[in-house]
Parts: sequence; structure tokens; C-alpha cells
Amino acid sequence: MKFPESKTKIVCTLGPVSNNKKIIKELVLAGMNVARLNLAHDELDYHRKTLENIREVEKELGIFLTVMMDIPGPKIRIGKIKDGPILLKKGQTVRLTTKNIIGDESIIPVEYESLFKSIEKGSLVYLYDGFIQMRVIEIRDDVALCQVMTGGKLDSHKGLNLPKAKITIDPIREQDLKLISFGLEEGVTVFGISFVEKAEDILKVKEFARKKGKKIFTVAKIEREEAVKNIDEIIKVTDGIMVARGDLGVQVDIEDIPVIQKKLIAKANRMSKPVITATQMLVSMTDHIRPTRSEVTDVANAILDGTDATMLSEETAVGQFPVEAVRMMTDIAVSTEREYRSFHHHSSLCDELRLSFQREKPLVEDIISMHTMESSQIIRAKYILAPTESGNTARRISRFKPYCWILAFTPNPEVASFLAFSYGVISFMIDRNKNDWYSRIMELLKEKKLAKKGDYLILTEGTIKKKTGGTDSMRIISVD
Ligand code: PGA
Ligand code: MN
Repeated sequence: MKFPESKTKIVCTLGPVSNNKKIIKELVLAGMNVARLNLAHDELDYHRKTLENIREVEKELGIFLTVMMDIPGPKIRIGKIKDGPILLKKGQTVRLTTKNIIGDESIIPVEYESLFKSIEKGSLVYLYDGFIQMRVIEIRDDVALCQVMTGGKLDSHKGLNLPKAKITIDPIREQDLKLISFGLEEGVTVFGISFVEKAEDILKVKEFARKKGKKIFTVAKIEREEAVKNIDEIIKVTDGIMVARGDLGVQVDIEDIPVIQKKLIAKANRMSKPVITATQMLVSMTDHIRPTRSEVTDVANAILDGTDATMLSEETAVGQFPVEAVRMMTDIAVSTEREYRSFHHHSSLCDELRLSFQREKPLVEDIISMHTMESSQIIRAKYILAPTESGNTARRISRFKPYCWILAFTPNPEVASFLAFSYGVISFMIDRNKNDWYSRIMELLKEKKLAKKGDYLILTEGTIKKKTGGTDSMRIISVD
């Protein structure tokens, strides 16, 4: 059995340059762990076709690839621009309207009915991820006159952000739920939820799926100031989070992003939820075969912060070098992971947990996961073996980023699929017969020639039968 090269997981957005079988296959071989479909673009038939291609590649390569459907939520976009891209120049004025017209250099349609409730004279309006910045100088009837402060090229359907403004659109609208229904019908169980504001937004989509008899895994995209404020409650109810730096970088002051990223990752690690760091990680590779030094450093720093996964967006969706971008991501991850231990990630997390044990009643699972990680280092374990029904045991250990691989054994295919987001975890499907985890796992290891005489393995177990989430022991196995 061939192991992946990097323990850091790589999420790739599939788009026009990469949704065919040939490139999907190459992306997998270069290190892609999760394929992301961005439902902000294109028709459902288009995504259905991409899913078909993914399934065929799975069959050809004999693998299982996790798919995340990214639900766009209330991203405000401009409408169509005639003969785009147009150039907006610094100092010029341009009008915004909510009427459904074709725009040009003097007037731009905005697809947000309540625009005039969210802006006033003096408000900032950012277009195209903040590349174009304007200020409202006058509002008259149903147009807003804006002065361009930073100019640039603008094309149809680019995003519009209103930093600091109150957005009156529900993050989960009827149309977002419809897209989730579509995903469920297509067998997708992982959903990225955009512009989450509070825990209830996540609970709402989970409840929607539950009513349809499905359990879904949610990745809450943290890209609004409110979400940063409500992060503790959101992390409690979601399965994972994404540091969505694209929109976040216009919703909050851009210079605050690095520290927010570190805080979000630390909180997700603390609560054993996988975290994806996203957007512009290797963006210059959209047009160039080599990334910039600062991009490479950014990827490495996100890993050293404790991210579980890194994400590629336009690099793999529309870029000229999708496969090279994933290859580069893998290489940076491998090099950074080699030095992980010198940066004491696990010890600061352990210190924090120990402190929390003084304040509040410790969880047995927290103690076991901490000691599993420490023992794996002391004894130089070959693998940590984590039987898990819900995936929690594997995630709790994964957050410490141990040096060896964590092999998760689960009877539940959805759980196996979601573990694709967790650092250093490889999942295996195993029958649901809790009495006999141990001999089944050992058989499987032998079959796949994964362990040899003299290796040390660490196994976590729940010794109380018929109780999910009851991992209460750890044993060190010397293979003979
Ligand atoms: P998006 O989300 O690419 O769907 O906008 C990621 C981000 O905002 O960074
Ligand atoms: Mn976004």
C-alpha cells in the first residue's frame, strides 16, 4: 500500500481546467485529498458531470476521493458588464444600481436588493476581492454615486463586499438549501457553508439534511466579522471550519488576517475539529509555473500554525498549472512536516489542555489522546491505530500532529470520507463488530504488509461495549 506523501491534507477546487478525468487523476497523484466543487459557478448539470468524472477516476485508481460541495450563500455579486473587462480609474465616479441592467464604465448593476439598506454616504464598497475600492459620495433615489479610490479591471459577476456594513441576507436561503438537496441526491455528504454568521446557521443545514434522513458534515467558512466573534459557538456545532481569507480579507481589515488565522486554527485544534486554510495560498501559480517566496512561506506557516488542510482555488480551477500547484503544495508540506517537532506545536496544545484540566473536569478522551500522542513519540511508534465510529478519536489525536500516521478504522463510509480533512489520518473501512476490533485490525495490517516484527503500534480502544465515543484506554503493541 502506498501512503500519501504529506500528512497535511490538500483540498483542490475543480473547474474548467481540471474537471476532466485526466487532470483529476493527475491531481490525485500529485496529492489532492479532497475535491471541492464551487457551486457559486455554473449549472447543476455541469457539477453532475464533474461528479461522474470523479467517480470514474475513483474506480480506475481504486481509491475513494472525498468531495466537498461549497454552497455559495449570500455572496453579493455585480451583474453583467458589457464587453468586459472594463477599467475603472482612480478618481472617476461610477453609479451602482440594483436594477437588472447591463453595466459599463459609468453604471454597475448589483445583485443585492437591499443594497440601499446596507450603505449610506461615506460607506466603503469593494469590488473583486477588494482590488477595486470605492466610497459612496451620494445616494439619490435608486442609485449610489461612488468615487473610485483604487481602480482596476472589472468583469461581470465579480464579488462585491461592504466592509463593516450590516448585511440583511440570511446566510442560509431557500436557494442554498436547494443546492444542498442537489448534493444529497448526488451522494455528497460534505458541505462548505459560506458566510456563516452564528451557530444556528450550521444547525439549520444539519436539521434540513436530517429531515431528509441524511447526516452531513459541515465546514463552516469563517469569512465575516460576526463569525470571528461567534467562533466558539460555531466550532462547537460544526464538523470543521475554513479560514476563508478571500472574503475575510475584505470583511475585516486585511492586516488582521494573520492573527485571526492563528487564533482560528488554535481554537479548532483545541476542539478537535479539522481546519482548512484557504485562498491565494499559491495564487501566482494561476499564471506562473513557480510560486513566490512569500506564498511558499505562507503555506508553511499555515502548517506550522496547526492547519489540517490547505486549499487551492483558482490555482486548480482556472489556472495554467493546476497539477504543478498541487505538486508544489505537497512538496512544501513534506518539507515543513519534517521539521514540525522543532516548533513544539503539540507541547503548547498539551500545556493548554493541562491548564484547562485545572479549571474544568477533564474529558477521558482528551487524556487518552494526549498520552497516545506522547507515547507515540517516546516509543517511536510506527502507527497509531484508532478504531472509531464517529471519527472523534482519530480527530482528537490528529490535532497534536503526531510524527507517525494515524490509521483510523471505521465501519462508517461517511466518517471515513470526512477524515480526509484531518492531518495525518488515513482511514480504513472495517466491519461493525466491536468485540473484535483488535484481531481484525492486526489481520488488515498483515494483509497490507504495514507492520513488521519489532515495530511498535499504539492502539486506542473503548473497552465499554456498545458505547460510541467511549475511547478510554490505550495500549502499546510490540509486533511479533
Ligand atoms: P470562496 O470562499 O472562494 O467561496 O469565496 C473562500 C474565501 O472567501 O476565501
Ligand atoms: Mn468566500
